[in-house]
Amino acid sequence: MPEQSQPGRVVIIGGGFGGLFAARALRGGPFAVTLVDRSPQHVFQPLLYQCATGILSEGQITAPLRRLLRTHRNLRCVAAEAVDVDPAARTVTCIRPGGERFAVPYDHLIVAAGVRQSYFGHDEFAQWAPGMKSVSDALTVRRRVFGAFEIAETASDPEERRKWLTFALVGGGPTGVELAGQIRELATKTLRDEYRQANPEDARVLLFDGGKAPLAMFGEELSGKAVRELRNLGVELHMGTIVTNVDADGLTARDHDGNETRYEAKTVLWTAGVEAPPFAAALARATGAEQDRAGRIVVRDDLSIPGHPEISVIGDMMSLRKLPGVAEVAMQSGLYAGFKVRRELTGEQSTRPVARAVGATLDPAGGATAPERLPRLGRLALRAHHVPDRLPEPGRRPPHLVGRFHPRRPPRARLHHPRGRALPGRIPAVRG
Ligand SMILES: Cc1cc2nc3c(=O)[nH]c(=O)nc-3n(C[C@H](O)[C@H](O)[C@H](O)COP(=O)(O)OP(=O)(O)OC[C@H]3O[C@@H](n4cnc5c(N)ncnc54)[C@H](O)[C@@H]3O)c2cc1C
Repeated sequence: MPEQSQPGRVVIIGGGFGGLFAARALRGGPFAVTLVDRSPQHVFQPLLYQCATGILSEGQITAPLRRLLRTHRNLRCVAAEAVDVDPAARTVTCIRPGGERFAVPYDHLIVAAGVRQSYFGHDEFAQWAPGMKSVSDALTVRRRVFGAFEIAETASDPEERRKWLTFALVGGGPTGVELAGQIRELATKTLRDEYRQANPEDARVLLFDGGKAPLAMFGEELSGKAVRELRNLGVELHMGTIVTNVDADGLTARDHDGNETRYEAKTVLWTAGVEAPPFAAALARATGAEQDRAGRIVVRDDLSIPGHPEISVIGDMMSLRKLPGVAEVAMQSGLYAGFKVRRELTGEQSTRPVARAVGATLDPAGGATAPERLPRLGRLALRAHHVPDRLPEPGRRPPHLVGRFHPRRPPRARLHHPRGRALPGRIPAVRG
């Protein structure tokens, strides 16, 4: 591996979908890549809810970054949290797990630090309503959901049992929809015969969202299907409501007319919103970059920050023409940024078609980027990760619903990237 002091130092912050694919594009080049992540694990987030409901173990949805990237001889993994950046000195300040600060120098910086759960200014809700962004969140949710059935079993007061068998989910996006359906299935199928006092089939699952329907962002047809499927499963929909308070015993929701209603539920789960992590604010301060309402960094079409062509922001943390925060966008942008840097450092012409293909996907002006094309791309992306899928038709079913509504066979979360295989779709393999 080239010395870190040689020119051509590339630093990637974040080893999620975006960071991994950027690393992939930079594999084997005559430059040194440092991947900084505060966690040693890559997490396959789309399967978090399966982990939360006990279908998969955490080991099946995570893989050590070092192992995934062990064949990348020009890359080293650093377990640390990036907290600041100095664009003039071209260094990123990081904190080791032990608390010590150190600087990582870069010539090119790719930021892929994702987003975190947002409680819309009510962080105090988090203690009662865990989110769903990390493995630790998923394990907390699992503990609370299964714990609720256990406590209901030993409750002597029927009213108390009812509260323990009531599950409230805040947020009617893909995660809330998947989780709500999964809890009802757990109650009516998996756990049905396992309790003697409590009847799991009595479990009420309430889904709250401020919009007029779940999955409204995916269009009326899909949203309508989600409504039907959720109702068939017995999920109670409370659309058009804003949750105004959460505590140990339930939540309060306000409808469009301003009426507030109290719901008793011992388990409240939060899947309602996301915001950029603190590193985004540090980056914006240091570079003058603009942040959108969720704190994401607004990037130019080539994914760089205005005035800083050496810094790219990719994946969920980038804000680019309302592209959604989904895995395929993270992977496409990771490849794009990685190959862009590679071309700048080596002048390799063979990377051009890749950059063009990814660019075309991200560029609406090229006619290929509309978000409605993303389900097809998502399908390809999931295939690249060996996630079994029932393939959605373009524009009909987002990849989010693949596992939940159409399981063909038990999911396998094999996270290895197929070695030596061409990338999916029309993105050609690159030979350095
Ligand atoms: C429950 C759930 C279900 C989903 N389902 C789907 C789906 O079905 N289909 C789909 O396409 N998308 C889905 N998504 C979205 C998809 O997972 C994200 O779009 C994707 O993970 C974004 O990739 P990323 O690399 O930008 O960020 P992430 O994957 O979040 O990775 C960010 C990485 O940065 C690290 N990090 C953060 N801050 C720092 C720091 N300061 N210093 C060092 N490291 C840091 C984190 O540890 C993490 O490893 C889902 C997301 C969730 C949460």
